[in-house]
Amino acid sequence: MSKIQMTTPLVEMDGDEMTRILWKMIKDELLAPFIELKTEYYDLGLEYRNETDDQVTIDSAEATKKYGVAVKCATITPNAARVEEYNLKEMWKSPNGTIRAILDGTVFRAPIQVKGIDPCVKNWKKPITLARHAYGDVYKNVEIRVPGAGKAELVFTGTDGKEIRQTIQEFDGPGVIQGVHNTDRSISSFAKSCFNYALDTKQDLWFATKDTISKTYDHRFKDIFEEIYQNEYKDKFEENGLEYFYTLIDDAVARVMKTEGGFIWACKNYDGDVMSDMVSSACGSLAMMTSVLVSPSGVYEYEAAHGTVQRHYYKHLNGEETSTNSVATIFAWTGALRKRGELDGISELCSFADKLEKATLSTIESGKMTKDLALITSMQDVTVLNSEGFIKAIRETLEAM
Ligand code: NAP
Ligand code: MG
Repeated sequence: MSKIQMTTPLVEMDGDEMTRILWKMIKDELLAPFIELKTEYYDLGLEYRNETDDQVTIDSAEATKKYGVAVKCATITPNAARVEEYNLKEMWKSPNGTIRAILDGTVFRAPIQVKGIDPCVKNWKKPITLARHAYGDVYKNVEIRVPGAGKAELVFTGTDGKEIRQTIQEFDGPGVIQGVHNTDRSISSFAKSCFNYALDTKQDLWFATKDTISKTYDHRFKDIFEEIYQNEYKDKFEENGLEYFYTLIDDAVARVMKTEGGFIWACKNYDGDVMSDMVSSACGSLAMMTSVLVSPSGVYEYEAAHGTVQRHYYKHLNGEETSTNSVATIFAWTGALRKRGELDGISELCSFADKLEKATLSTIESGKMTKDLALITSMQDVTVLNSEGFIKAIRETLEAM
């Protein structure tokens, strides 16, 4: 059988720890035997980020802008412990934060549903898609550790030299302050991608912030969404029998628990980060959630929603067996390959992506799975496989198909 040919390279962003190990296995077992893989490779592993003063992250985001589609492995966001562990020159920023700041846009995350893995929330019958604003707020913050007594002020200086000034706090001792921002432009493109995605996927859209407390900042989000909805989307939503509504984040959290799912929940950057972890873990495992960053200019970056699975990696380094779930990472690849196929008109690439997803889910439905799923499945007598064994089992299913 001849391999599927690609015309435009995918931007491939390699990553860290256990997911870096899965990355190679997925390529070797599930992709390279079937596709003449054409990628432009960027090593976002922490060591190389450190070596290049994080330039490689910026280059990979620029390449994504150029080619239009990227697939990314999970990466370490360094903290103090990592600075020591990897002997870093500095505490580099989150690669995802850097990439999102360059590409802008919205992250859509949806649980991968499979028979035998039922959501903990009994009434959730359909997936809940989280739309996470991927720019600004606390992910692009400036922080000061206040050393002692003094006055903290918020100052904006216009290009005309005019100042707006407010007191944040009169400190009588040490503390902390933080400055965050967002832009009307980014919030507008966030709103538009949510409305478009809702229409594309024929799902209702919820949006929630804390505008009762954040009367200027969060309120701006609410107003921009409302304005764009009224001016550009209301008619289309009504034609399609879809609903858009705004509510307080607390109310949204409470209501989400009572629904049957099947809608898009738009969240600010931090809320989306946290709530997508809640939805994914309630739907089985962090390893059963897809994530795609869609930029307003139509650039796509696919990844898994989980991290580098550090705890499993240390076991692996100790020579112990791991049973790490590769489903979300596989779906990152299939998402990217399908999108590449769509853009380049290569239907074989799209159908390969469909087949690989189907093979992955059928393998689980046939009772072969990793430990995280075995612990929560309603199926009887399942076979728990190790990291590599699960990928090999998918290969067998794929070849049988
Ligand atoms: P994590 O890697 O998502 O793992 C947290 C726990 O969730 C694991 O210890 C494991 O539980 C379970 N888990 C997650 N993915 C799994 C999988 N594929 N298969 C089986 N179990 C899975 O989060 P973390 O340990 O908090 O973070 C590790 C590193 O990842 C950090 O350096 C962080 O900066 C980074 N991170 C990166 C991204 C990204 O690149 N998108 C996102 C989040 C975090 P058990 O140990 O109980 O088995
Ligand atoms: Mg998170």
